[in-house]
Amino acid sequence: MKILLFRRLTQILILVAFIVSNHYGLKLLLGDLSASSLFGAITFADPFALLQLILAGASVGMSVIIGAVIVAILYAVIAPRAFCAWVCPVNLFTDMAAKLREKLGFNKDAKLLNLPKNTRYYLLLAILVFSALLSLPVFESVSFVGMVQRGIIYLDIFVLAAIFVIIVFDMFVLPRGICGYICPLGAFYALLSKFSLIRISHDLSKCNKCAKCLKACPEPQVLSMVGHKSGFVTNSECISCGRCIDVCNDDAMKFSIRNLKEER
Ligand code: SF4
Ligand code: SF4
Repeated sequence: MKILLFRRLTQILILVAFIVSNHYGLKLLLGDLSASSLFGAITFADPFALLQLILAGASVGMSVIIGAVIVAILYAVIAPRAFCAWVCPVNLFTDMAAKLREKLGFNKDAKLLNLPKNTRYYLLLAILVFSALLSLPVFESVSFVGMVQRGIIYLDIFVLAAIFVIIVFDMFVLPRGICGYICPLGAFYALLSKFSLIRISHDLSKCNKCAKCLKACPEPQVLSMVGHKSGFVTNSECISCGRCIDVCNDDAMKFSIRNLKEER
């Protein structure tokens, strides 16, 4: 619960910083997740958007390139898909849908749609190919992540419809469907953070095999070692949300620094 509170606070503070900066012209965090400026001094840009722009043949300013490289390095080094659990506003609503499913007692396996887990990677590849073919940053034109964030920043009533669709999709069509199967941005960050250093580690000697972590995890395939052996979560589809730590009463899960040398 402690990590969840800290995570929500981070997500909300980032949104509040964007809202007050954009509405009152403060130089705190101007712009949006595609491109922003921190204290009017440091530019951040979305590396996935930059990749699409480059493939589309658009001319991109040096400050955007540097901003995207900074963001890419941060997410590549820190923790897998940290963007998803700590920054992306869509996560607030997909977590809400998962909570509602649980509270309403839905069968955890009930779904209307079956998709392979790799769908997001195929979509990612298709977006890059079509960005080059159409000379257009394809995902940027339809990004529900950007849509939700800009909608919240600029208090756009139509964004409520997009949020409603996301919640309904995750509740009734495919549990954890948006982030776990469809979002190409999440897939991009999973690939980018293959070698990131902060990882969940599992201590088998403390584990009582209750499987609470597996039930709480939005990407349970990454926890295949739980109850079998000690070790790090090396699969970068983990979103670094810390839910497994919050629900484990035996202290068998924690964030640790991964030893890449030992994994060779
Ligand atoms: S998977 Fe996509 S929508 Fe979900 S949290 Fe990550 S970036 Fe946001
Ligand atoms: S392994 Fe833990 S930190 Fe990673 S996604 Fe699952 S619950 Fe979140």
